[in-house]
Amino acid sequence: MTSASADHLLRGLALDGTVKFVVADTTTINRRLREMHDAGPLGTMALGRVATAALMLAAGLKHKQQLGVQINGEGPLGEIYAIADPDGAVRATVTDPRADTGGLKLADGIGPGRLTIVRRLEEDAPAYRGVVALVDGGIGADIAEYLLSSEQIPSAVSVGERLGPEGVEAAGGFLVQALPDADPEALERLVKRIGRLPPLGDLLAGGLTPEGLLDRLFDGAQILARTDLSLTCPCTREHFARKLCTLGSAELARMTDELPETVLECHFCRSQYIFDREQMNALLYGARMYEQAN
Ligand SMILES: [Zn+2]
Repeated sequence: MTSASADHLLRGLALDGTVKFVVADTTTINRRLREMHDAGPLGTMALGRVATAALMLAAGLKHKQQLGVQINGEGPLGEIYAIADPDGAVRATVTDPRADTGGLKLADGIGPGRLTIVRRLEEDAPAYRGVVALVDGGIGADIAEYLLSSEQIPSAVSVGERLGPEGVEAAGGFLVQALPDADPEALERLVKRIGRLPPLGDLLAGGLTPEGLLDRLFDGAQILARTDLSLTCPCTREHFARKLCTLGSAELARMTDELPETVLECHFCRSQYIFDREQMNALLYGARMYEQAN
């Protein structure tokens, strides 16, 4: 499932090539995530921010590589997880999209916990994982902490949205990373500039584009790439059929016996895959053949 949108991301260099940046407008992706997961305000913030962060962190990867941002907290939202690739595709899920704390502070919905960054650099190869404790719970500062403590890259990260009565008015993010030869004084000026920015969601809701955001951050930025972004899930019926088969013939037989149909739901896009008795029997037959052959 892919949604057309104007969402896009720019990446490039600034301050004479000593600072890397990514800026993104993810308004449509945030809106679609909210609809897809029937999310409340906290769920919408969680899904949108983690998706935006994953897209920005994946922006420098090579084709076919993937990056996941996973948050596991003790709060009512549960696990929040997004997977993105450098071609601008992202998908995201949260355990309880309708979690409600009575307030609008994302950190309260997440609670104390940890952030894991999962990098898959080759298809079917083991993933690299880096884990840090959450320091803020608003996602942006947590990602910056991860980049500093796990990868020794001083970074500023902001992900945010503005929610209105109709849902997501605007959403996006920026990521700024200092390269080793960056001038400390220039960085200090940049940090001050970032500190003076109004909340990102308000800026974007006011009509500011990623290009305009660059002008607010830097005096002259060199854009190296522009990537269109989309909410995309690669799930297929075949994938879920294989998953069913891995349960083994005994379990498949039990399910076929007890249920008129077996319904599986993709956690990421909430698509439902329905297998009736006839289809379950075909899978059961396949599973038995496989078990006899092994
Ligand atoms: Zn899916």
